[in-house]
This record gives sequence, structure tokens and C-alpha cells, in this order.
Amino acid sequence: MSEIRYDPILDEYSIIAPERLHRPDCYKSKSNNRRKKIRQCPFCVGQESMTPSEIFAMRENEPNSPGWKTRVIPNLYKAVKIEARWNRDDYGVYRVWDGFGAHEIIVDTPRHLLRMDEWSKQEYFNWLYTMRARLNDLKNDVRLVYISLFKNHGHYAASTQQHPHTQLIALPVPSIDSLKRLQHAKKFFDRHSQSIFEALISSEIEEKKRTVADSPSFIAFCPYASAFAFETAIFSKKPVSDLGGFNDSDLHELASLIKKIIATLYRQLGDFDFNITLNTPPLQKNPSTEMFYNDIPKIWRFGIRIVPRLYRLGGFELDSGMQINPVVPEEATSLLRESLEESE
Ligand SMILES: [Zn+2]
Repeated sequence: MSEIRYDPILDEYSIIAPERLHRPDCYKSKSNNRRKKIRQCPFCVGQESMTPSEIFAMRENEPNSPGWKTRVIPNLYKAVKIEARWNRDDYGVYRVWDGFGAHEIIVDTPRHLLRMDEWSKQEYFNWLYTMRARLNDLKNDVRLVYISLFKNHGHYAASTQQHPHTQLIALPVPSIDSLKRLQHAKKFFDRHSQSIFEALISSEIEEKKRTVADSPSFIAFCPYASAFAFETAIFSKKPVSDLGGFNDSDLHELASLIKKIIATLYRQLGDFDFNITLNTPPLQKNPSTEMFYNDIPKIWRFGIRIVPRLYRLGGFELDSGMQINPVVPEEATSLLRESLEESE
């Protein structure tokens, strides 16, 4: 049984999940990993019986059979589970929750593709469509306050399965980082009567120094204070605060832009490892989110962060929470723009 524990000094939560140690290749090296046989892949078409029953799938036939475009299943090595008690205990100076929450795997495509630049536009759309479906469904569970949608690709990004997949973890408590960002966004709005996202997006559009590409409703740029080399952010130009607020035509537009950015990063960086995260705001109003909850549509904006993992993190990063980035974001932007222009 996992636990969500609160650290009163760091003012942050940790998920203590001993079950995670037994993940298939926790101790194996990268070279062993690469040789794993495709036919043993539990996420490939025809291997549906190797996974727990699906929670959701883009399909027109019966569940847990071939014929799907995307599939969502509970993570077998889950950090938290929905069956756990929704319960908090105080333990001296500490607080602990039973490991309650959702931990799901989205199998992004039936194709066992090792590179995301091989995905079709339709596959990008299906991926976004599935994340939107899960997000909107989990919003109905009032016990779940925080949701993290993320993709780990490659060894340096902590991925243990080669088959393209995305993870979703939903918890009864918001991460302290996400609370701080929301509170900061609220303060900015109160002071300037404009959201921090709107201010930043108009400045990037005007300055043009860091914009890699854009479309009518989205903009992709290398953030001014990028924490990682070649980090690229995609934000909505429209006031939509999470993926759940977009219609299918928005998702098609976003799919095309992400596909373009991923392809450009591959051209510039080769076969690189990366993380992708979505900046989803808290899902429910509770004592920790009530200060800004009703203002979320005004103060927050949907965004995706693509973070190449080109090197390991060290002690300074762990201690300070700050990253040392060796590539100037404006330089990264011009390299990405160059390879984008060459390809067009
Ligand atoms: Zn596979």
C-alpha cells in the first residue's frame, strides 16, 4: 500500500510507493532495454490480455480486443490507487494519506513506434483526444483535486516501456508547486487586471525572438528563462485553462503544431530523450484551492512543456530546485527555426 506523505520542512508531498520497485526494468540498463522483443510488449495490438482491463479506448468494437486507436489502462505498478481509502491521518508533526488516487497509462497508438516524429497527425489528435476524455471524466470525481498528465520518453526521462505511452496521476492533494504557481498567477491578475499568460504571450508575439512556430490559436516558443536546453512551451492564445476546454477542431490544430515542434526537435537533437507535461490547474475547490479556484478561467491558460533530457541532474538542482541550462533560449529558438524552415 502506498502513502502520500507531507514534509513540513520542505512544504511538499511525496508518494511513498514501494510497489514501484518491482517495475519490469527498474534495475536494467539502457542497452538491455533496447533489445526487448516487440512481441512481448504489453501495449502492442494483440497483447490486450497482458494488461488490466481498459478504462477507456478509442474504438468501435468490444473492449480489451484489437481494433483500438488509443487505450487507457490502470498502471500495473501504480504509485496510487483509486480503491484505497480516502483518508488522512495526523502522525506527530507529520501528515499521511493512504495512497488514494488514479494512476493510468494511456497507450498513445497501437504502433510500436520508438520515435514520436514517426506519429501521423491523426495519432497526435487521438492522443490529445484521449487525454481530454480522461481529464473530463476524472473531473467528476470530487475526491481528486490534482491531476498530472505527463510523458516520459527514453532512459534519461525515466521511461521503462518503449511503446509510446502517457501517464496520468490524479491525487486528493494538489502539489505545492502547482499551488504556488496558481497563487502567483492570481496575484499577478489582481495587480495588473490581465493574466500572466496573456501578458507573456503578447510579449512573445511582439518580440518574435523566441517564437519557434504558431497557429491561429496556439504559440510555441522557447521560454525566456528555460530551465532545460531546447525546452519548448506551447500555450493557448485563447482563454482556455485546460485541455478539457478545447473542441475537436482546436485539438486538430494543436496536434499539427505539436507534430511540427517534435519533428523540429528531432532534426536538431537526433534521437533524444524527453518529458512532456501539461499544466492542468486543480480540479476541485477545497480549502487549499479556494483562494483562486473561481478565478482559474481568468488567471490560467492551457500549456504543454516539452523538455529535452540531454544530461543528468546534479546536487545543485536537487538542493535549489533551480536548473542550470547551458543553451541560451534565443540560440535554441534560432536553431529550431532554421531546421523548421529547411523542412518546409
Ligand atoms: Zn508495443
